[in-house]
Amino acid sequence: MLKKAKHLFLYLLFISINLQAQSSAISSEWEWFKALKDTLSARNAEELLENKQEVLQSAIDIERSDIVSKISKELAFIHINKTNDLEKAMSLLIKALEIDEKAENNTALIFTYIGFYQLFEKIEDYYYGKEFLEKASNLLRNYDFPPLRIYLNKELGYTYWMTGELGKSIEQHQNILTYAKAERIPKLEAEAHTDLASIYANENEFDKALSHYQNALKTYRRIKSPLPEAECLTAIADIYLLQNNSERAYENYLAALNILRDVSDAEIQLAKLYNSVAQYYLKKNNAERALANLRLANPLAQKSQNQELIQNTYGLLSKAYKELGDYKKALEYSELFKALEDFLQKEKNDRNILKMQSRHTINQKQSLIDQLELNRIQKDFELEKEKRFKEFLIIMVALIAIILILILTLFILQKRNNKKLKEANLKVKAQNDELEDLNATKDKFFSIISHDLKGPLNSLTSFSGLLMNHTSSLSTEEIQMLAKDLDKSLKNLFALLENLLQWSRSQTGNIEFTAEEFDLTEMLNENKKLLDKQAENKKIDIEVKNTKPIKVKAHRNSITTVIRNLLSNAIKFTDEAGQIKMGVVEESNQYVVKIADNGVGMPKDVASKIFRIDTKHSTQGTAKEKGTGLGLILCKEFVEKNGGKIWVKSEEGKGTIFSFSIPK
Ligand code: ADP
Repeated sequence: MLKKAKHLFLYLLFISINLQAQSSAISSEWEWFKALKDTLSARNAEELLENKQEVLQSAIDIERSDIVSKISKELAFIHINKTNDLEKAMSLLIKALEIDEKAENNTALIFTYIGFYQLFEKIEDYYYGKEFLEKASNLLRNYDFPPLRIYLNKELGYTYWMTGELGKSIEQHQNILTYAKAERIPKLEAEAHTDLASIYANENEFDKALSHYQNALKTYRRIKSPLPEAECLTAIADIYLLQNNSERAYENYLAALNILRDVSDAEIQLAKLYNSVAQYYLKKNNAERALANLRLANPLAQKSQNQELIQNTYGLLSKAYKELGDYKKALEYSELFKALEDFLQKEKNDRNILKMQSRHTINQKQSLIDQLELNRIQKDFELEKEKRFKEFLIIMVALIAIILILILTLFILQKRNNKKLKEANLKVKAQNDELEDLNATKDKFFSIISHDLKGPLNSLTSFSGLLMNHTSSLSTEEIQMLAKDLDKSLKNLFALLENLLQWSRSQTGNIEFTAEEFDLTEMLNENKKLLDKQAENKKIDIEVKNTKPIKVKAHRNSITTVIRNLLSNAIKFTDEAGQIKMGVVEESNQYVVKIADNGVGMPKDVASKIFRIDTKHSTQGTAKEKGTGLGLILCKEFVEKNGGKIWVKSEEGKGTIFSFSIPK
């Protein structure tokens, strides 16, 4: 029961870890990493280990590899920082690496690499450590997450320094400096300055070192951080002392001293400072003052248990006593110095042996990491290949689709074009047929016309021949008669030619049928007046029915020609004492002009021919008036050009009504 409850609790814990990772992977991992660092510095290692081992087992039980990776890393960090069991740490990190690489979880991988870095840093294998830091840094390029970037910059800066790559080291610190300045984070800015300053000081580039320390100093002063401020002052003073500028060195030592006196928990810094001041006095040959400072430094150094500091103080004490001539004390401190040196050396040797051992075991496992890395590279390569192939497939499918669409469109277009072409061909054929018909009709018409022209011309030549050959034998009356006949023939010819001319002008488009407004009633009256004389000769009465003006819009000349022709025909085909009536009927969309006579009329078959040019029909009038057979053809042409129609109603012996319409 208790075990079940525990499992449930652990499971809920996993879920919460997991959810965090999902929401914003990198920042939650970072929070986890920071919390882990805090825990490591605070808690008891054994307690931590026991706790985490249990969680790890449960995660394995329920097959949650993501949590196995995370807890493995936590355990590895504990072993690196607390138990020094580096072999165990290595195994745990390899397990995490395996899981993270399989899951392709880059954010988790970054922290696994950091774990490896810490492991190698622990055994001072900076070359290998650097490789893992660089891997983590490369992975982080895909994320915009400054806190982790700064952490990596710092660690890389340190590692490059340790591997002697000073340029790269400076670059890392410069990056931090630029970021801190841009984001206005003074503490970070000052830290970057001190890091750069200590690199330059180590390289004996004192001017650069001093300038960076001064910058850091200014910032620490501004943000009121007395301890680092005093450290900066001490470092500056040390440089001045190295440069034999003892006055400035002294000033800075004094300033540091003034600050450190008021700061609690600063034993080490204070002891270091007293030692530095003592060194200054020894240089100035003032052993008394040097001793006074060393007496202050010694108890502080002892209290701090910092062996190197204690040793340094012993060395200086021995020197000071020697200067003062107290050789006994000088020897005493010199021996203490030596003893500590031996002790420190032994400790260092032990540490080195341990490191060598760890290095050996770790290096044995190194091949495992290499294999994992190789697998990863291979997997990446396979994935890349697969991706390329997929892309290739997609492109091919897209291309095929495009080609198919193109072919289809072309096909549809061609089909549509073919249809249009067919339609156009049919239209052209119809037009051709029509044109052929028209040509045939016109040919017929011209043959008739030429025949008609020949008639009067023949009689003209015979009259003129008569006149020329028989002038002397002809009487004046006979000549007069011949001249009259000649005149008649000429007039006939003239009328024919005039009609022909007008018709041909209308055909060739030389007449512009522009509409204008005029009064139809007035036009009927004008034509009546014009032909009244002819009508009077045959005692025919012409009546215009309309009295009111009727305004129409049409081509004036052509309409008046039509009326004149129809009226003239009515007179021509009406016997003496006949009657002609003219009038206009208004309909909804047109006016209809009617010219009616009670003349000879015409048979049905004639009525169907008179408007056609291919069957030109002409008969003599009641007073033997000759005609051209062109008048009605012209009338039809003109009426149609004005948008109207012409028709006839006739009965033989009773009379004829010609009607034509003018659209409104
Ligand atoms: P033309 O009168 O010069 O012969 P038209 O084209 O004007 O030529 O007339 C053609 C024919 O139509 C006439 O010759 C005649 O036979 C017939 N026609 C025309 N108008 C009348 C009419 N009002 N009454 C009887 N027949 C007519």
